Amino acid sequence: MSTAAVVLDWYPAAARDLPWRRPDTTPWGVLVSEFMLQQTPVARVEPVWTEWLARWPAPSDLATASRADVLRAWGKLGYPRRALRLHEAAGVIATRHGDAVPADVDALEALPGVGSYTARAVAAFGYGRRCPVVDTNVRRVVARAVHGRGDAGPARTTADLADVDALLPPDAHSAAVVSAGLMELGAVICTARGPRCGACPLHETCAWRAAGRPEYTGPRRPVQGFAGTDRQVRGRLLDVLRGADEPVERAALDAAWSDAAQRDRCLDSLLVDGLAEQHDDGRFALPA
Ligand code: SF4
Repeated sequence: MSTAAVVLDWYPAAARDLPWRRPDTTPWGVLVSEFMLQQTPVARVEPVWTEWLARWPAPSDLATASRADVLRAWGKLGYPRRALRLHEAAGVIATRHGDAVPADVDALEALPGVGSYTARAVAAFGYGRRCPVVDTNVRRVVARAVHGRGDAGPARTTADLADVDALLPPDAHSAAVVSAGLMELGAVICTARGPRCGACPLHETCAWRAAGRPEYTGPRRPVQGFAGTDRQVRGRLLDVLRGADEPVERAALDAAWSDAAQRDRCLDSLLVDGLAEQHDDGRFALPA
């Protein structure tokens, strides 16, 4: 059996029951899930996604919310610029697309905050279209199972898309299932550090396993730390703003991080990114 046929056979019974995969999920629900999942694990996304879809079931509902409400509802999912981009995308969908998420990859890619991966994920999982959906997990599975390499190395967008496209079956529904299945395999079985080959549906045909799982010696993607980074500081400052009903004095932000130079740099970047505002009286708040 081909890689695609094995994955097609395996996925329907093996897939985790995630709320955005249920049949009644709208393309809008899929789009929201893809924004949230870009940098955040499934377990943290699930409750927030459920709350968002109950509160803002259509793009126009989110578009009318204030940015402060959107940032509060984003909570601690991290990378909060995603929340503002999703808010902007909702506005564009509501006003230019009749409140319906577009199905076409080019139209999706034209939305704020929607890149190559997210556009294809929405087309495939929201509309059942045939298009390669390539994230880190898919690249790793294909690198191992097809090319016999332990790691996919740095991303090569065009080549990666062609690589996965070549694996997909011709009919749209099967292709969308295979796309979801490759992602699931990479997320739960063919993980970066501990691939469980014994539980893998591809174990008989996997090129890397057949070669004895040779060590990967090629270039690697840079690994980002978190502790002490500007990202952590920005998160702390936003926590203060999110937790306050009123604008806060600068002293409240000063207490959130001791390194003044780093704290000031991060506060400036939040203001520039539109994630925070300074009022005329000098106090700080989430954007209106
Ligand atoms: S057999 Fe092992 S290395 Fe190959 S795809 Fe499956 S989990 Fe990954």
